[in-house]
Amino acid sequence: MTDTTETAATTGPDGPIATPAGERSARWQVGEVTITAVVESETAGIPPAFMFPDADEALILGHPWLVPTWADAQGNLAMRVQAFVLQVAGRTIVLDPCVGNGRQREVPWFSDLRTPFLERLVAAGIDPGSVTEVLHTHLHVDHVGWGTRREGDAWVPTFPAATYRYVDGELAWLSSRDDDDARRIHADSVQPILDAGLAESVAVDADLGDGLRFAPTPGHTPGHVSLWIESGDAVALVTGDTIHHPFQLAEPAVAFVSDDDVALARTSRDDVLAEAAARSALVLGTHFPTEPVGRLAPDGEVWRFEAAPGEPVG
Ligand SMILES: [Zn+2]
Repeated sequence: MTDTTETAATTGPDGPIATPAGERSARWQVGEVTITAVVESETAGIPPAFMFPDADEALILGHPWLVPTWADAQGNLAMRVQAFVLQVAGRTIVLDPCVGNGRQREVPWFSDLRTPFLERLVAAGIDPGSVTEVLHTHLHVDHVGWGTRREGDAWVPTFPAATYRYVDGELAWLSSRDDDDARRIHADSVQPILDAGLAESVAVDADLGDGLRFAPTPGHTPGHVSLWIESGDAVALVTGDTIHHPFQLAEPAVAFVSDDDVALARTSRDDVLAEAAARSALVLGTHFPTEPVGRLAPDGEVWRFEAAPGEPVG
């Protein structure tokens, strides 16, 4: 994954930064909508039970199509944190702006990050000042952070010209959580947006215009949404955290470690997969590593994932 022959250069504040192959930006076209994946981090070699308590290496290796793209030969998984940037009709929309740099967080691998995410965004041709909207499938730590950035002692909006749309109820749910991580996420990633007057609330089934539509997929969090993109003849689905890894297409009953309501998350996963299959949708996996975009191929009563590689950018 970090083989230096497999790197590309991104320009950071201190000069060129080598980008591992799994962290390169890529671009897809869905009708009139251009979608760019900008990666914050990709991690390989994760034992399945670390993220999915009911999964093990044998379960993963029972689906040989996962190897080598989404799992290694030992049955360990890779996982990515990325934002999808959607551009259509003059709008530039950042969906799920990752963890962010320099935050104190409960889990060490999200704490005090120093990644070149913003440099990658710029290298992909996306100026933070040109972003018109920021959307969130939910308000977990890895879906909100780059909404703000550090300036001196203050956290300020990264996208000062954008409207940040928070799904009804999800903001109240974050505020209601009585733990240090939720308080810190609210303080450094959400409150500065509220203070700047950039926040708007939006319904769980909102029509966002230009073929973009939220659909409620509760369970991972109470107000979790997925995003449908319908443009021309093309249909695409951004999963959010309804589905965390392509192996769940073959094992949809397996829950992620932090699913808030496991049964409800399972129902949402079943429903959204059935709809994506029925509509032959392009599926964009928010945490899917390596090849995050593809199509569902029937495999008995479940599915395999067939990658649809994007055009490399940046
Ligand atoms: Zn997540």
